[in-house]
Amino acid sequence: MTSKELQQRLFAVGQRIQDAATQAGRPPGSVRLLAVSKTFPPDAVAQAVAAGQRAFGENYVQEGVEKIAQCATLGLPPLEWHFIGPLQSNKTRPVAEHFDWVHSVDRLKIAQRLSEQRPAERAPLQLLIQVNVDGEATKSGCAPGEVMDLARAVAALPRVQLRGLMCIPDPARPTEQRRSPFRALAALLAELNAAGLALDTLSMGMSDDLDDAVAEGATIVRVGSAIFGARAPKAPAA
Ligand SMILES: *Cc1c(COP(=O)(O)O)cnc(C)c1O
Repeated sequence: MTSKELQQRLFAVGQRIQDAATQAGRPPGSVRLLAVSKTFPPDAVAQAVAAGQRAFGENYVQEGVEKIAQCATLGLPPLEWHFIGPLQSNKTRPVAEHFDWVHSVDRLKIAQRLSEQRPAERAPLQLLIQVNVDGEATKSGCAPGEVMDLARAVAALPRVQLRGLMCIPDPARPTEQRRSPFRALAALLAELNAAGLALDTLSMGMSDDLDDAVAEGATIVRVGSAIFGARAPKAPAA
């Protein structure tokens, strides 16, 4: 893809976000775009940066850490890196050392390790709890009924800051359920805040459903293919 094409695609995604926000009566600028650069090279990141993008999402620990290091040699302005993939407890250290956000905390052990391993000289690692809003046994994310206890425990940890919730609803859900998982996540965030937590972030919506997510209150949408194009089918090892 040429820089010009990528710039146009980024602009079109920004327009979709703004249209959905306006239609929902939300202020423009209340939704941040996270460009999901997984499987794409540092060059693609640099092109997006040239078009004004600053926040990038990665799914695989090794690929992400390497890309962060490579991008650091390109003379780019400061970037914000979000880890959004499944995280095993033996892989938390590089994530704690190199990323700014983690969207996929689904149990206390992961958050405890990230807290212990976050370098003291860096800003607190920003955390989101991933919730399995569809209740599918095979999917990652904590159960909705476990969120309150987990959020209280994570919010008490040092060197990390709990900011909110994230979900990845089943992309194959029927049309009449396009919005209900997003509404459920927003309701959970409201419950946590009513219980005294101070959370401001809902990470929900991807290339195919970001409009529905923004309508239901998303504050971060995670968009890959609508910006960078289709990914190669085979993912690299985590
Ligand atoms: C890959 C991925 C995305 C982006 O998906 P697209 O459909 O390409 O926009 C968003 N969130 C997570 C967790 C992902 O793994």
